[in-house]
Amino acid sequence: MINRRKFMKNTLVAGAAASLLPAVAGAAAPHAKKEWFNWVWTNPNLTETDDVLHARYKAYYEAGIRGIFFENDSEKHFRAAKAQKLQAHRWIWTMNRGEKTLLDAHPEWYAKNRKGESCATNPPYVNYYRWLCPSRPEVRQYLADDYAAALAKDYVDGIHLDYVRFCDVILPVNLWSKYNIVQTSELPEYDYCYCEVCRAKYQSEHGINISEVEFPEASPSWRLFRYRQVNEVVAQLTAVAAKYNKSITAAVFPTPDIAHRNVKQDWVNWKVTGVCPMIYHGFYKENVAWIGDAVAEGVKALNGKFPLYAGLYLSDFKNDAEIQQGIQNALHNGAAGVSFFGTVTDGVLQALKNAVAAVPFGKRAW
Ligand SMILES: [Zn+2]
Repeated sequence: MINRRKFMKNTLVAGAAASLLPAVAGAAAPHAKKEWFNWVWTNPNLTETDDVLHARYKAYYEAGIRGIFFENDSEKHFRAAKAQKLQAHRWIWTMNRGEKTLLDAHPEWYAKNRKGESCATNPPYVNYYRWLCPSRPEVRQYLADDYAAALAKDYVDGIHLDYVRFCDVILPVNLWSKYNIVQTSELPEYDYCYCEVCRAKYQSEHGINISEVEFPEASPSWRLFRYRQVNEVVAQLTAVAAKYNKSITAAVFPTPDIAHRNVKQDWVNWKVTGVCPMIYHGFYKENVAWIGDAVAEGVKALNGKFPLYAGLYLSDFKNDAEIQQGIQNALHNGAAGVSFFGTVTDGVLQALKNAVAAVPFGKRAW
């Protein structure tokens, strides 16, 4: 899982409702609005000793880290983190679900592209791209049950969604050469979901058979319809988190604009307790100044609805000084903190300490 995740983050960006949103008043806010709140994404190494975990999580807290997203369950890691005053959240993939049990039992639950090919049999780009159709009630229930099982554990402070979107119809530009694809238009093999459930639901709502539309990728209502299907999945999971009075956060695409265009993800319209846009500048051939621009765009769009934590891809930085600059760009532009993906070295922790010391907390909208 660790290697797979690493490969995935190095190749495809991973990966957090419009109508009838459930009440979310019960979902706990992830932080107390009085200091920067920083996170680390990690996959817990189950063989590590208590002494190692004690030292690491203590150092994290002292550097300004306040929460960890764990990609696997480990009571030992969760409790060791909590003993150092860190929040411990369970990070679980949402729409991209390749578990064999599910593939075998319900191949019909998987999304279909504009050519009619299913992710169950023809995964796009890479073999682990197994996207579920967000329109199916049984898919939504399956996900609700899965996240509820994590939330039911007393040592889990919240859930963290990832891949909560459609498959990338457009990859970040830095990956085009890697896959030998030019995606200046929406190609049919990467455009989802055209399954019978989505088509029938859209037709019943809009009176249009999307199969008879010459350029469905240019249809605004078809696009909105698809945003809403994922928004409704998120709304259902938000209700599950509220039931347990725990928080729900998500790793999302870097800006509302890129999220819409690349992966049909509409995170500004969710009611979660926070988002971590993956502002991985190298994927978009940008420099660290863009981290501030991306944060500013997201914060403006959210208008104080919930906090935004800038996701930083540590491998994209040249050195620790540049990491400090990236963090400061995020904090100066309205982020509530940052979230690190990659190896958190002592140098990274020092960069965080320096950045937090350099930017006054001030008065925040969230
Ligand atoms: Zn579908």
